[in-house]
This record gives sequence, structure tokens and C-alpha cells, in this order.
Amino acid sequence: MAKLEYIWLDGYKPTQSLRSKTKIVKSFSGKVEDLDNWSFDGSSTEQAPGGSSDCILKPVYVVPDPQRKDGYLVMCEVLDSTGKPHESNGRALIEDDDNDFWFGFEQEYFLWDPATNKPLGFPAGGYPGPQGPYYCSVGANNAFGREIVEEHLDVCLEAGLNVEGINAEVAAGQWEFQIFSKGAKEAGDQIWIARYLLERIGEKYGVAVNWHCKPLGQLDWNGSGMHANFSNSLLRTANSKEKFEAVCEAFRPAVAECIAVYGADNDQRLTGKHETASIHDFSYGVSDRGASIRIPLYAVEHNWSGYLEDRRPNSAADPYKVAAVIIKTVKSANV
Ligand code: ADP
Ligand code: MN
Ligand code: MN
Ligand code: MN
Repeated sequence: MAKLEYIWLDGYKPTQSLRSKTKIVKSFSGKVEDLDNWSFDGSSTEQAPGGSSDCILKPVYVVPDPQRKDGYLVMCEVLDSTGKPHESNGRALIEDDDNDFWFGFEQEYFLWDPATNKPLGFPAGGYPGPQGPYYCSVGANNAFGREIVEEHLDVCLEAGLNVEGINAEVAAGQWEFQIFSKGAKEAGDQIWIARYLLERIGEKYGVAVNWHCKPLGQLDWNGSGMHANFSNSLLRTANSKEKFEAVCEAFRPAVAECIAVYGADNDQRLTGKHETASIHDFSYGVSDRGASIRIPLYAVEHNWSGYLEDRRPNSAADPYKVAAVIIKTVKSANV
């Protein structure tokens, strides 16, 4: 017997959540093409009316589930009852069949105590000391929830996700993991599966994950981003400052379209403070962590070849939709 956890995104707006259910099969090869479509009650997930409630789950990516005997995690696209991509299906918007686009997402998040409704490390009745010592910290005064973070890292690696690193972040109880993939769809699949695993590990500890981009409001605490690092063969082999700048300029007229999918409440986070650019501005610059798009020093040092970092997507954004709009915008560049 194999346990297949079919995972999908619901239809809630403006932020979609993970849903999943288990299908038991006699045996499974481990290959995605051997998985059957399944269905679910879309009227319970804001994806269909009650009168015709069936939506279809189409498996698109599968990894072993390291925490479950004979288990697999099956990332699915949602199709409507006629078999067309559901409007909630951001993955279907990605236009990059040859996987020319590579993505590295830096996923920030808060580990959150449901009892106090505060991040781990925050005393019930107040605040810990101000930001400064928490980023990349060690020690029980400054690093909170490491056993969860470590367990998550091990499980992600065992599942075969391409995690490139983790770090404690600037706020207390805030952490980051980075996932890179040579393919936009796979990068999105891996981020969503990693989010799923983090949520599920948190259940064991009674700790929630807060994906909101500014969960502590306008107090002097950093928000959470999901910087999108991206490249295509044009950028990787540019050897040209002009080509890099042309790609950056392509984002200028696309600001509204980008911000629309860069995560809910991003106006609260993109204030111009805390290593962000204002949501009203568009800027780019070498090594500039206050810009909308940062040109990493790496690219300059490699004779203007490499990748770009869009710093605007937030922690709650859908990586599929983020990748889709970045790909579309880069392809529109005047080079
Ligand atoms: P920082 O915190 O300084 O912004 P990180 O090390 O957290 O940087 O993240 C940088 C990300 O850039 C990594 O996820 C890495 O995989 C990604 N990256 C590196 N090279 C490329 C590339 N050619 N195309 C896309 N992403 C890349
Ligand atoms: Mn980072
Ligand atoms: Mn970070
Ligand atoms: Mn970054």
C-alpha cells in the first residue's frame, strides 16, 4: 500500500492556502505520469458552487514523503469540471516549456505561537529587545524555534527538494529558507511542498507558520519577503550592462501587474524602510537592497552575466504567479 498526499491550493482571495487529502493505492512507481487525476469538493474551498461542486486534481510533481511510511507528496494543479485550468491555478499561467528560466526563492516566515498570537520569542505580555541580535543568531536569548527549522530542513532534503540554505532572520522568531530550481514550475512546486512540510511539522510542536508579510504591523519589526532571484539564458550569458538594464526597464511599465500578484498587503511591507523600496516607486541598482530590483554584485563581477533579484514579492505570494509575471515581463524586454 502507498499513501499519496494530493496537495493543492484553494480558491481563497487574496491569499490561497494549502489543502490536501490522502489517497491509498496498492502500489506506486514514484513517477508522476503513473498518478491518476482525483477530485474534491470545490464548494468547500471557494473553487466551485455547491450545485456543481467537483473540481479536478491533476498531479504535476511528486516527491517521497520522508515522514510517512510508504508516503508520497503529490503537488496538483486544480482543473474545473470541464478539464480547463481553474482560475485559482497560477501554475498554468507559467509560459516556459523549455525551462529556460531558473528561479531561486528566499522564503521568509514567522514561527507563531497560537496561544499568545505572537512570534516565538515574544513574551506573552510585551516585546523582546529590539531588532539587531536575531539575524543569523545562535543561543536561547536570540534564536527561537530552531528544532522546528532543523527538522524542516532535514525533511525537505530527504524529500529531494533543492534547499540551498536557511538562516534566522532580522525579527525574533523569523526564519528563511532558499530553494532554487532550473525551471519555474518546479521552483513553485518545491516552495509549495516546503511550505506544506513546515506547516505539518509545526502541528507536532503546536506552532503555526505566519506567512503574512507584516504580521507585527508598523512597529519597528521587519516584514517577510519572498525575494525572487531569476535568470534566463539571455541574462546568464549577457556580457552586457545594457542588456541587464533593458530587462530591468521592462519591469517599469509592469509595476501594477507585478504588485497584483506579489502578495497581499504588500503596501504594509514595501514602505521604503526595513530593506525595501516603496510600493509606489520602481528602482534598480547594483547591490541595492533598498531597490525594487537588485542587480547582484555577482552579475557585475561576471562581466554583466548572471541573474536579477526582484525584492518585492512577499512571503505570502504564490511563487507560480510570481514566476509567471516575471517570465512574461522579461520576455517583453527590448533587447
Ligand atoms: P540574499 O539574502 O543575499 O538576497 P540568498 O543567498 O538568500 O541571497 O539567495 C540568493 C538566491 O539566488 C539563491 O536562492 C540562489 O539559488 C539564487 N540564484 C543564484 N544564481 C541564480 C541564477 N543564475 N538564476 C536564478 N537564481 C539564482
Ligand atoms: Mn536571503
Ligand atoms: Mn532574508
Ligand atoms: Mn534576497
